[in-house]
Amino acid sequence: MSKLIYLDNNATTKIDEKVLEAMMPYFKEEYANPSSMYDFSIKPAHAIKEARRKLKDFLGAKNEKEIIFTSCGSESANTAIRGYLSTVKNKKHIITTKVEHPCVLNVYKYLEKNGYKVDYIGVNSNGELDLTELENAITPDTALVSVMFANNETGILNPIKKISEIIKNKNPETKFYVDAVQAAGKVPINVEDLGIDMLGISGHKFHAPKGVGVLYVNSKTMISPLIIGGHQERGKRAGTENVPYIVGIGKAAELAADNLEYENTEIARLRDKLEKGIVQKVYNARINTGLATRVPNTTNIGFEYIEGELILLHLSDLGICASSGSACTSGSLEPSHVLRAMNVPFTSLHGSVRFSLSRFTTEAEIDYVLDKLPAAIEEIRKISPYQKELQALKEMKTANV
Ligand code: PLP
Repeated sequence: MSKLIYLDNNATTKIDEKVLEAMMPYFKEEYANPSSMYDFSIKPAHAIKEARRKLKDFLGAKNEKEIIFTSCGSESANTAIRGYLSTVKNKKHIITTKVEHPCVLNVYKYLEKNGYKVDYIGVNSNGELDLTELENAITPDTALVSVMFANNETGILNPIKKISEIIKNKNPETKFYVDAVQAAGKVPINVEDLGIDMLGISGHKFHAPKGVGVLYVNSKTMISPLIIGGHQERGKRAGTENVPYIVGIGKAAELAADNLEYENTEIARLRDKLEKGIVQKVYNARINTGLATRVPNTTNIGFEYIEGELILLHLSDLGICASSGSACTSGSLEPSHVLRAMNVPFTSLHGSVRFSLSRFTTEAEIDYVLDKLPAAIEEIRKISPYQKELQALKEMKTANV
């Protein structure tokens, strides 16, 4: 492919060269098992310690012992949720949201079949969580509340501190799990300030490789391991440590912290330019989240009366990568559970596209999309069965200009 404009960074990101460079010695020369007794294992063991310190700093944890390396965001979520619940057998109530990632939602569906009662909190039309509904749902039997930091499809940020205060006021024994996979590297995270008990992130969403994640569990929260075996990760996650990848996520966390300001100024500016440009140039486009608070890199745009899959195929022909739904649900024709929970009108439910930028996105790439996308949409509109509705939209928009 000649041209590649990668605007699907919520699905995965390109590995940063500096991350790869930091990892390489641990594939080649420093391959010792970090648990061995000879001097050859000192360097890998030290590298893991260093990465743990970097993650502690990145997440604002108090203690390095609160950091557990995992293989991905899904493993972090499973370990936290199932690992914690297996230590509180007398409480069978969980609260989560309707818009969580499938790696969290499907754990709760599984738990529902195994004797748990789960309440799924709704969102408004901008994707913002109903905090009153959440507060009212907490009971003395609530073992766990689980709310994502940022939504993968819309980028909507949840008020994590406010939620942790609500939980602690209503039932101080209830634990709070936060899936922060889409927040890491995009907004500051400080688990101590935010009152979070457990939090999961995934390396491949912030320029580390696929196959490494982190779970934070504060020292007051007990979990049983999901993977039972050796003594690694203080008995919380067995298996010989994946040294190069752990080094990689450590380096990626350090770089992400350095780039946080750039993400929130320059990348936010490029995202805003992209979405404003699209809404100006394409008369049947609407921003699905309105002006709600979002991570700086994401926009979710509905193109009314046309199919999202067709848009993605046209964009792909132009070398532009974007997505509809989450990476896991795109490819299925089911409309996104997130957009359905937001009551996005059916006219744009099937025609919604997520564009997600990264610190490697350039202004020239955004200009290219703004140049090419309107004509692609025009082509797709020609074969839409909703010609009358499109014409009415066009007239309305022209009258409003
Ligand atoms: N949580 C959210 C919000 C995500 O977007 C994803 C991946 O898309 C995950 C969890 C799962 O992460 P992983 O792919 O590392 O298992």
